[in-house]
Amino acid sequence: HAGRGAGLTLQVQVIPFGEDQYLVLSRDISQLERLETMRRDFVANVSHELRTPLTVIDGFLETLSDGLDDFDHDEVHRYLVLAHEQSGRMRRLIDDLLTLSVLETGAPAPVEEGVDVADLMHEVHKETELLSGGRHTVTMKLEGGGVLHGSRKELHSAVANLTSNAVRYTPTGGHVEIGWRRRADGGGEFWVQDDGIGIEAGHIPRLTERFYRVDRGRSRETGGTGLGLAIVKHILTRHQAEMGVQSRPGAGSRFTVRFPPARITQD
Ligand code: ADP
Repeated sequence: HAGRGAGLTLQVQVIPFGEDQYLVLSRDISQLERLETMRRDFVANVSHELRTPLTVIDGFLETLSDGLDDFDHDEVHRYLVLAHEQSGRMRRLIDDLLTLSVLETGAPAPVEEGVDVADLMHEVHKETELLSGGRHTVTMKLEGGGVLHGSRKELHSAVANLTSNAVRYTPTGGHVEIGWRRRADGGGEFWVQDDGIGIEAGHIPRLTERFYRVDRGRSRETGGTGLGLAIVKHILTRHQAEMGVQSRPGAGSRFTVRFPPARITQD
């Protein structure tokens, strides 16, 4: 027997207890209910996200197999390229889902390695330039070095996710800057700054939720899965790091990732 109040769900059990006496047990199951709702939403989201590209691929295959002779070589090629884009989208989504589930389901703590920050930054800088394909100016600033203790793979993935977003949400001709600086308290921080489309303040608290997007269309167009920042957040939590976002619509965004002194050594 469950009773509902304002945001609270109680499970109540009444057990007869001797003559005219009852034992009443009540249990707050609000949290369980919330988790169950989240799980259901998640499954619905994943199904929807996978079904959309599959529908497109299905449609193309059906059209082609119904009348291959009706299409010239160029048209067939165009359909195949579009179908390939959609299968790529499904693959990215599955990769991101697997990454998230490994991070979420009590995976072993990240291998503690010493990651040279300058190396990591050079690597991400080069990859960001490649990803931009010359459409943006990508610059790097290093204010002090340091060695970060954590998983190289995860730390790389976190920074690369932020730079990939910066490139994807910044129009051609824009500027993306990645940087690292040591802080007076012995900690350190990365930043990834762009002069792209920016984000309205109201959206900022929700950016790291799974599948949360400010503009679904734009995320899709640029190959987004809606899981990038959820992955970043998990990785950062595992490294006791915190992320801050400053942004103004039309002016650009700055994502800052701050590591505590305990995670850093000088060399
Ligand atoms: P997506 O795959 O959609 O990019 P993310 O989890 O990486 O998913 O980001 C969530 C949302 O945050 C994006 O859909 C986008 O609306 C917004 N966003 C993230 N980074 C930026 C940025 N640098 N500039 C503008 N919007 C951003």
